[in-house]
Amino acid sequence: MESLIYDTAIIGSGPAGFTAAIYTCRSRLKTLLFECFVPPSQVAVADFIENYPGFPEGIEGFQLLDRLKRQAQNFGLELHASRVDNIALESGDRGDIWRVKTEDKIYYSLTVILAVGARHRQLGVEGEDKFRGKGVSYCAVCDGAFFKDKEIVVIGGGNSAVSEALYLTRFAKKVRLIHRRNRLRAVAALAQKAEGNRRIELVLDSVVTQIYGKETVQGVRVRNVVSGQESHLSCCGVFISVGYTPNTNFLGGLVKMDDSGYIVVDQAMRASKPGIFACGDCRSNSLRQIIAACGDGAVAGSSAVDYVDHIKGQAYE
Ligand code: NAP
Repeated sequence: MESLIYDTAIIGSGPAGFTAAIYTCRSRLKTLLFECFVPPSQVAVADFIENYPGFPEGIEGFQLLDRLKRQAQNFGLELHASRVDNIALESGDRGDIWRVKTEDKIYYSLTVILAVGARHRQLGVEGEDKFRGKGVSYCAVCDGAFFKDKEIVVIGGGNSAVSEALYLTRFAKKVRLIHRRNRLRAVAALAQKAEGNRRIELVLDSVVTQIYGKETVQGVRVRNVVSGQESHLSCCGVFISVGYTPNTNFLGGLVKMDDSGYIVVDQAMRASKPGIFACGDCRSNSLRQIIAACGDGAVAGSSAVDYVDHIKGQAYE
């Protein structure tokens, strides 16, 4: 039974989770990481990353993730491909210990590091659910190739929407980027690329109020928020990129969260329960950048090491 007890259970296989694992494994903590592929790490489906330090030519998302994973495995990380359904505290002969229940098994761990990330937020308009997978998508890298020489729209004005629109110009004849304000939220470098791309048309001050079609998407209804005028844009693809929501529902009330469901942590990435840490996009006030997720992961991993050393009476005081 004792061998089934891990020092650290890390939930989430993005940059935060793997970096936390590099830190815990290098400190010889027995570490198990749960790879949750649904939803996938945002980095796994990121086309090209050009702002991760140390890669002047940029790097593809899945390549960066693969490097982080192999680095953690080199230090002894164990992996289990399964979704975690539930985490609960068990008190008994072994003291307080966290019980981590997956679809098929139960594991025990002295600490838990939550690195569960965030998933795409829904727009919430008529037709969005009906045409999901039939023209409505949340991932350009996954679905862009289905729209070769077609007309499509991207909804949103942030870094994600602009990156998606730029990526989609590889396939689509025309990409209309529909944003509710009169200028893009995205950083200048991305915004300028979009503005200078002949295949991208900016549709500003506008919101999509309906996605319609028959078997698949045929168009969107758009309202100009300044004039109130309604119009129709014909398209066969709608890519929605209006921000993120944290993957924290399964936690119930386990730890304190903010109003949007992000986990509240202190500077050491400690959540509100002893032995639970959170890092990356699922924690409150994250910068939501890969480099920041890695930084969080390093802090969470180091804090878990301190915590385990302390309860085992091995702390270097
Ligand atoms: P974001 O920055 O929160 O932008 C979301 C966009 O969607 C905003 O423009 C927002 O409009 C719009 N929006 C939200 N709800 C909407 C609604 N109901 N209807 C219409 N539009 C709506 O999210 P993100 O672009 O997904 O980026 C998330 C984080 O990841 C950011 O911190 C970003 O910097 C980071 N990121 C970075 C890169 C990069 O550096 N290359 C790439 C991707 C993502 P408003 O502007 O009016 O609020």
